[in-house]
Amino acid sequence: MPLVPSLFIDGHWVAAAAGASREIRNPFDQSPVATVDEAGAEDTECAIAAARQAFDHGPWPSTPAVQRGALLSAVADLLVRDRADVAKAESLDTGKRLVESEYDVDDVVRVFRYYGGLAGDAAGRVVDTGNPNAISRVVYEPVGVCGLITPWNYPLLQASWKVAPALAAGNTFVLKPSELTPSTAILLMRLLTEAGLPAGVANLVLGAGPQAGAPLADSPLVDLVSFTGGLTTGKRVMAAAAGTVKKVALELGGKNPNIVFADTDLDAALDNALTAVFLHSGQVCSAGARLLVEDSLHDSFVTELASRADRIRLGGPFDPQAETGTLISAAHQAKIEAYVAGAVAEGAKVVCGGRVPDEPELKAGFFYRPTILDGCVATMGCVQDESFGPVLTVERFTDEDDAVRIANDTVYGLAGAVWTSDASKAQRMAGRLRHGTIWINDYHPYLPQAEWGGFKQSGVGRELGPTGLDEYREAKHIYQNINPAPSRWFGDFGDKDR
Ligand code: NAD
Repeated sequence: MPLVPSLFIDGHWVAAAAGASREIRNPFDQSPVATVDEAGAEDTECAIAAARQAFDHGPWPSTPAVQRGALLSAVADLLVRDRADVAKAESLDTGKRLVESEYDVDDVVRVFRYYGGLAGDAAGRVVDTGNPNAISRVVYEPVGVCGLITPWNYPLLQASWKVAPALAAGNTFVLKPSELTPSTAILLMRLLTEAGLPAGVANLVLGAGPQAGAPLADSPLVDLVSFTGGLTTGKRVMAAAAGTVKKVALELGGKNPNIVFADTDLDAALDNALTAVFLHSGQVCSAGARLLVEDSLHDSFVTELASRADRIRLGGPFDPQAETGTLISAAHQAKIEAYVAGAVAEGAKVVCGGRVPDEPELKAGFFYRPTILDGCVATMGCVQDESFGPVLTVERFTDEDDAVRIANDTVYGLAGAVWTSDASKAQRMAGRLRHGTIWINDYHPYLPQAEWGGFKQSGVGRELGPTGLDEYREAKHIYQNINPAPSRWFGDFGDKDR
């Protein structure tokens, strides 16, 4: 049983109604991290009811926008104060290196500050009616109760991308983080409370998706569901949300092309190709897991890349020598093994990795060696499917047209990169790639101020940036005639009455 209740409903920490719990273990050494409550549908229904009550009758939706913004800025300050504890909790749940978790917390701080500033920008706009007796304006109002569902790879960062704009716009919410990584969501609820958020505005349920998460897509009391996770689950959430025509925002998977032309700065392209795919052991939605190399550069580039990948040091979250960490779970490790076996069966050639490491000190963790699969083509399953692990597929291309054709040959459209020293070629490519973010001669930087979201089956709606806030508010047009008079549309009613 949990030492303290870990579901946060209507301003109180409560235990799961059915008394179920889940043990969280560090994926590096299986040491126990925490035992938390495991919510069932009835707990989530309670959390939804609390969020509904707080939205319909509580003070938050009508709190002046600048005050909402000030609260978000206060949360950012509290996160700075608690940076070390929050980062440690994130590393214990995910197995990611502490330095990466610290970087993530800094990103979360930026997100809260950004939406804190944007919250006050809620004045709306006046529309010219051309009629001196009418006033027409568009105002922004919160959507209502938001169901926020997040994955395990960047637990707090993904939550912040939803929680901060939802609060900035005046909504109430129920957050359902991944069942594998609940710790930083618990810390976030404490910080929101400390910052003064009224009871019922922020609610947290922990547990498995089909039980604790599904009611957020089903319930008629929820107005919006914002989901980040895999494509299959995203389709399920979207279908469930259709029952009550909820607003839906989806951030789904990616199979992102990293396109290297022969005229590129080789050292930068090589180094970034490693970061693109092996950061956080490839468990990144925007990972550059699909390398496209121009024919003339292919052999030398892949040889050097494989030699560098072979030297990547694996280790635990608090090992200062480690360059990347474990996978999240045994099930995910087995999925990567099966994915590589499938790729080999369809003709891919393993040029490095392709196995679980054999060092004794890594045996307890769910590690997989950084892996490069050469000889791939777009028709192969390994090129089309997201592995979400440290596996790079390599394809060749002949020229710009060929690169565009291959890179767009995917159901996904989240992100991609182009490496070339020809600036006009880079711009042409960026314009033709059907992916939501394109990096030129770089990989992975994102900005809270710039939109993030997928084309095609990588998503619906945009997170971050000014339009990220738009996901969480309704634009309402208010037209006011300040000199009411009969319309006289059908003639003179005064005459008829006579
Ligand atoms: P997942 O789809 O298995 O789970 C995501 C969340 O959905 C979890 O909280 C899970 O419990 C919940 N869930 C599962 N079934 C549900 C249901 N029926 N109803 C409601 N909720 C349910 O994904 P994951 O394995 O946690 O995360 C990995 C995936 O997330 C990858 O595909 C990755 O690309 C994607 N991702 C995308 C972005 C982005 O910005 N586009 C960012 C991070 C991760």
